[in-house]
Amino acid sequence: MKTKVNVIFTAFEAAPFIKTGGLGDVGGALPPALNKSGCNVKVILPKLSIIPEKYKKKMEPVQTFTVPLSWRNQYCGVEKLTYHGVTFYFLDNKYYFERDKVYGHLDDCERVAFFSKAVLESILKVEELQCDILHCNDWHTALVPVFLREFYMGSEKMAKIKTVFSVHNLKFQGIFSKEMLGDVLGLDSKAAASQLCQGRGAINLMKGALLYSDVLSTVSPTYAEEIKSSYFGEKMEGIFNKRSDRLFGILNGIDTAEYNPQKDKKIPATFDKDNLSGKAICKVELQRKIGLEVKENTPLIILITRLTEQKGLDLILRILDELLQEDIQIAVLGTGDEKYENALREAENRYKGKMCAYLAFDSALSHLFYAGADLFMMPSRFEPCGLSQMIAMRYGTLPVVRETGGLKDSVIPYNKYTGEGTGFSFSDFNAHQFLFVLKDAIGVYLNDKEAWNKLVIQAMETDVSWKIHAKEYADIYKKLMEGSL
Ligand code: ADP
Repeated sequence: MKTKVNVIFTAFEAAPFIKTGGLGDVGGALPPALNKSGCNVKVILPKLSIIPEKYKKKMEPVQTFTVPLSWRNQYCGVEKLTYHGVTFYFLDNKYYFERDKVYGHLDDCERVAFFSKAVLESILKVEELQCDILHCNDWHTALVPVFLREFYMGSEKMAKIKTVFSVHNLKFQGIFSKEMLGDVLGLDSKAAASQLCQGRGAINLMKGALLYSDVLSTVSPTYAEEIKSSYFGEKMEGIFNKRSDRLFGILNGIDTAEYNPQKDKKIPATFDKDNLSGKAICKVELQRKIGLEVKENTPLIILITRLTEQKGLDLILRILDELLQEDIQIAVLGTGDEKYENALREAENRYKGKMCAYLAFDSALSHLFYAGADLFMMPSRFEPCGLSQMIAMRYGTLPVVRETGGLKDSVIPYNKYTGEGTGFSFSDFNAHQFLFVLKDAIGVYLNDKEAWNKLVIQAMETDVSWKIHAKEYADIYKKLMEGSL
């Protein structure tokens, strides 16, 4: 019998424990899918105080030790919990992790450095954490491959580990003052000191991972190509070009059990592609709940997102008034930049009953939004993968997206001649292109029910699960183990 590859997957987020966006979805859904693809995956997360109490209560203590971090020695407790067949290990240190929000603290560099060092100390010291492949995600765990090579090569258990680093969003790289190098990271006398440097006074944690990891991946094939250009590369395009033989683009999937219109307990009526009557009930409930006029046959367009420039909010605000002249409704579920929150709130006041700005992060309510809507807007400036458009498709809500990154890879645009498609798309970051496509989509909804229903069914039939894509990661792990990568 072949032995399974032992994978340690580490990230700062994994649903349902910690989630601020797509990284949380991936952290929760990819590990069980990898197990199904024949790997033996364990996950290491920070034990943040925002983890719901019901999970904290079930955690069992495993071991405690101290973690060396430059001149400091910090306490670390390891606890574990098995969820959906995967064992999650939580690293506890109240000083670093007992905070009201996940990111955005003055000492974030020290917090992630502690976590990264603690991940490696756990693998070194906890017997049950066997590791062939160490899979790290985004800048919060970017120091792991760097510390591994700089501090742990004297240990046999550690020296054989191969590393994979996945970029979920290149916009956030973890850039800090150069002073952190010695005082916090303890890397000032190591080769990494020059590798991490960016400009005169800064260090870039993600740059470290891009240089030190055995394999790099990002979350869609199109984004893997885009980041080799200066427009999308965020100053890292040189590394991606140089290491292009080690860079893979693997499209994300979604958790198809969590997002399942046939069984979803968070919506008032379930439905499937053969019987959409439940979706109509969800629409009425959504309209009622968020103060829109109850109108079954008026197209309801939604947006569920972080309200940031990346997500194309400028395009949406540019066309909002013109769009709202039509007989449509718009509902936004999101939080983010104040300027966008204010503009949306103000639009809600001007179009009461027609437009709703629900400014909150509410995972349960997002299910009702996805289920009850007709169209989902996602005109992103750039989009490494994007999960929302896939969740929307699963609930028969047709996405209207810009053709970039994972949006291009996951949505097939409507072809009015063949009837093909799972949504609508446009190419340039241009407000009026976006408006024309939206109006097209509204036109199909109002005037061609047959074509519309076919699109809804095609969207719902799309395989947005992790099944195929987890296998692509498993193949990379296997090649790394065999030495053919
Ligand atoms: P990103 O990771 O860039 O924020 P993705 O589309 O990959 O974007 O993933 C966003 C995830 O966060 C989706 O699961 C989406 O439903 C969820 N989400 C975003 N904003 C909210 C919100 N305000 N309330 C609930 N869920 C949200």
